[in-house]
Amino acid sequence: MQFDIITIFPDFFRGPLDHGIIRRAREAGLANIRVVDLREFTHDRHRTVDDRPFGGGEGMVLKPEPIFECLESLQVAPRETRLADTSTESVVLLSAQGQRFDQGVAEELASRERLVLICGRYEGVDERVNAFLADRELSIGDYVLSGGELAAAVVLDTVTRLLPGALGNEASARQESFSAGTVRQPVPVVEGQRPAPSSTCASGGLLDYPHYTRPAEFRGMAVPEVLVSGDHEQIRRWRRRSALEKTLHNRPDLLQEADLSREDQELLAQISGKRI
Ligand code: SAM
Repeated sequence: MQFDIITIFPDFFRGPLDHGIIRRAREAGLANIRVVDLREFTHDRHRTVDDRPFGGGEGMVLKPEPIFECLESLQVAPRETRLADTSTESVVLLSAQGQRFDQGVAEELASRERLVLICGRYEGVDERVNAFLADRELSIGDYVLSGGELAAAVVLDTVTRLLPGALGNEASARQESFSAGTVRQPVPVVEGQRPAPSSTCASGGLLDYPHYTRPAEFRGMAVPEVLVSGDHEQIRRWRRRSALEKTLHNRPDLLQEADLSREDQELLAQISGKRI
């Protein structure tokens, strides 16, 4: 997948691109990431990318011309084509006013062949970029960052780990929190034994269950006994119950949309009873 990140701070991405899964995805040729300096598309001595807002008010606004020129030079598909369902490219403007970025949006973006991320700064970006150039505005949460770079790094990381082959184990991404896909069946950790190979089952959009590793006891804190029992069915049930419990406690809103089985509903009733 091709990523193009447009920013006035290209050095910002040195860290995020050079570690972990993103670095490995780049090295494996799964992700080709180009960071473009917006100032390359200015034509004055001071390489000006911003100007005062029309109508007055505080702060500066990123000018439209360098951003339009930048996208033209990248030969991005026309906006009408990108807005079509079948498009293989997407141009995203990072903005606190955007639609909320979540795992579903990440999965949709990961199905594209190319993703262009435009990072705003100052008071924001001239609205014509949103109205006539980007095909969507995305926000990573209800708070205001100083710039779009952190948000772009979040989108980049989330989408990259969904690319086939990026995690090494395809089941890993599907079993995580928010995933509507499929998840691993329990792989018990039994002292002295290698874990059994994993298989998959539906996760249904809950938060992930808690994870533990060795040692089984640490400073008086023991791993739940069931996880070292070797009883796969009991482990599956414990994990499902824990995922439901955590979701109910931390993100009850997710339960409205979750794909709940009869067993889930029984477990939830038990948990709620316990909580009451
Ligand atoms: N005046 C803007 C507002 O109130 O919505 C905030 C501008 S912010 C200081 C500068 C840039 O940071 C934005 O143009 C955007 O690119 C980025 N940004 C800030 N918060 C963000 C968020 N929650 N998600 C994505 N990008 C964000």
